[in-house]
Amino acid sequence: MARIVMKFGGTSMAGIERIRSVAARVKREWEAGNEVAVVVSAMAGETDRLVNFCREASSLYDPREYDVVVSSGEQVTSGLLAIALQAIGVPARSWLGWQLPIRTSDGHGSARIAEIDTTALNASLANREVAVIPGFQGLAAGERVTTLGRGGSDTSAVAMAAAMKADRCDIYTDVDGVYTTDPRIVPRARKLKRVTYEEMLELASVGAKVLQTRSVGLAMKENVRVQVLSSFVDEDGEAEPGTMIVGEEEIGDMERQLITGIAHDKNEAKITLTSVPDKPGAVASIFAPLAEAGINVDMIIQNIAHNAGSTDVTFTVPSADLARSIDVLNRAQGEIGFGELVHDTRVAKISIVGVGMRSHAGVASTMFTTLGERGINIQAISTSEIKVSVLIEEDYTELAVRVLHTAYGLDAPEDAAA
Ligand code: ASP
Ligand code: MG
Repeated sequence: MARIVMKFGGTSMAGIERIRSVAARVKREWEAGNEVAVVVSAMAGETDRLVNFCREASSLYDPREYDVVVSSGEQVTSGLLAIALQAIGVPARSWLGWQLPIRTSDGHGSARIAEIDTTALNASLANREVAVIPGFQGLAAGERVTTLGRGGSDTSAVAMAAAMKADRCDIYTDVDGVYTTDPRIVPRARKLKRVTYEEMLELASVGAKVLQTRSVGLAMKENVRVQVLSSFVDEDGEAEPGTMIVGEEEIGDMERQLITGIAHDKNEAKITLTSVPDKPGAVASIFAPLAEAGINVDMIIQNIAHNAGSTDVTFTVPSADLARSIDVLNRAQGEIGFGELVHDTRVAKISIVGVGMRSHAGVASTMFTTLGERGINIQAISTSEIKVSVLIEEDYTELAVRVLHTAYGLDAPEDAAA
């Protein structure tokens, strides 16, 4: 007997027919004698619809009430799944975030999970009941409902698995695993059997859109065994093997690739401030107000000073935060003392990720050479121990991903291509 968390995304919950097949899948695990908690998303598209209602009601909505509205999508699907389970003879009970409760910070709209009380849940599981838990929602100290940020039900699932000391956390999504890159761009992308937490963290945060980044960080910290699986099944009703997210020590030297995956992200915008005084504190005067506004700056380059002790500073922010960034910077213009603010949203960030990079030289230079040979100009670079990212013109995204995938030997053999 194992204790497992199964998480189903919005596509799997979109409509009663699909909820029925989720129930059938859950029933199999339950019949095998396992203790099962299921975490569900709202029906696909529902959260967007609810967010839009809030915006329509008022552009300056109260985030506490936004959370009341947007958390409701998961309330619906958790109740429906419990009904569907009961209908096929599986005792099931839903547990809303406030009922367990799942305690969070009071950062409405993107609260962080602080603690989960599993007392009621454990009693329910001991009674051979399946627990159905709406993802995405929690409860702040003032007993107000919170949500965990878009895509947050992945984080709910991992946090539940950690709190319940589950043997594994199976995340069913509409992608059937983690690929070397986006298969829509590179048909010869391969599904990875295993990927390390750290690689997944980098791949998620650079746009591989498989799991919410926070959920991967949490899994790494709490040592939760996460498996990404397809919610679509073969004729026998079995899910194909997905991708297991594991610790680095579990990946043997033989199977270790230099580069594990290539990600791309078109949701960044580039800002350049010209003629920033080249003096101590200048950079701080740019990034402090942005940080205060909660804007995440990613790539940063500061050129060496040219004439008259001033320099250009270039950096990227999420495109969604561009308008706010411009506003914040313009208001701080006196303090910073820059000349002009130039911005560009037609950029894309391409990243190569792999733990193999730690022990090999020349990985970055292969990237630069490969792009250079195709006439793709690099506008900014950032690196970590296991990642190299470059900023390029958006139009070249697909080409860049394709040539890098080949250059690092990631293409599947011709006959294995789907
Ligand atoms: N329904 C929420 C969203 O769309 C949470 C989730 O599905 O992960 O962001
Ligand atoms: Mg999701």
